[in-house]
Amino acid sequence: MRCTKAVWQLQLYLDQQLSLAEIRALEAHLSICPACRADLHALEEVTRTLSTMEQVIEPAHLTTHIMQRVALDVQHKEKKGRESSFVLFRLSLHELLAAILLATVSTLGLILAQPTLRTTLPVVNGHDAVSTFFSNFMQNLTTMNSGTLSLILWIIGTILGVWITLALAGDEMRSEWYKAVMDRLPVW
Ligand SMILES: [Zn+2]
Repeated sequence: MRCTKAVWQLQLYLDQQLSLAEIRALEAHLSICPACRADLHALEEVTRTLSTMEQVIEPAHLTTHIMQRVALDVQHKEKKGRESSFVLFRLSLHELLAAILLATVSTLGLILAQPTLRTTLPVVNGHDAVSTFFSNFMQNLTTMNSGTLSLILWIIGTILGVWITLALAGDEMRSEWYKAVMDRLPVW
């Protein structure tokens, strides 16, 4: 008998699952092979230790406790998810300022691009110097094509935003602002 076959049969031997012929063959091999004998002793040791081990009785209500924990964990995660999605909608002061400025600038741009809306602006209908200046300014703006107009408005928004950021914020806020503006930038 080869060692590989003997080793494979050792547990069956201990469990008394071998035929008489197999037992004889295995015992014949064990009598001449110290390595397999050592394996048998090790297996016997493991089997004996396992049989002396006490079975641990699970505490009462273990399943209930586990399911409660799972339920609480799920609730906790859902709550956290709600909180973080709420934070997404809560703007910081700087973000709010930047958003308001951009909104104002883009609204102004929209009005300037539409002559009928523009005439509703009181400043355009006056004849004093300020009104004339605004009128000319707006006239100049609206005679440009929309691409140039959006570019100018975008630059104004960016400059205002940068100014606020530089005046009030640190490095962290600066990058936050940049991100916020990029997210809110209207598609022209
Ligand atoms: Zn052997």
